[in-house]
Amino acid sequence: MAKRARTIRREAERATDKLRQARMKLAALEPGGSPARPIELVSASVIEPHAASMPCAACGGTVRVDTHEARTFGAGDAPKRVRVVHVRCVACGTERDVYFSLDAALPS
Ligand SMILES: [Zn+2]
Repeated sequence: MAKRARTIRREAERATDKLRQARMKLAALEPGGSPARPIELVSASVIEPHAASMPCAACGGTVRVDTHEARTFGAGDAPKRVRVVHVRCVACGTERDVYFSLDAALPS
């Protein structure tokens, strides 16, 4: 009996892991999920609030902004300046990077 309950629990945990991995893969394809597909914003000051307002990709929980840095992706003719915000879920601890671009910003 006890063994069966453990087996069921293990199966449930495996299913949860699979679901989480699938959600993370999906999030990577959505805007902000990769340097090639950053979320376009017009002001640097809204990057962190925007990142914090996005629910955890794995569980839908609240995330907190860990770090925020500017990085350059790609080389040669078309280097791309991207803001990378590292967020961590308060609920499940999942961490991920969210990518933003300020290309749409008006020149100042
Ligand atoms: Zn989470």
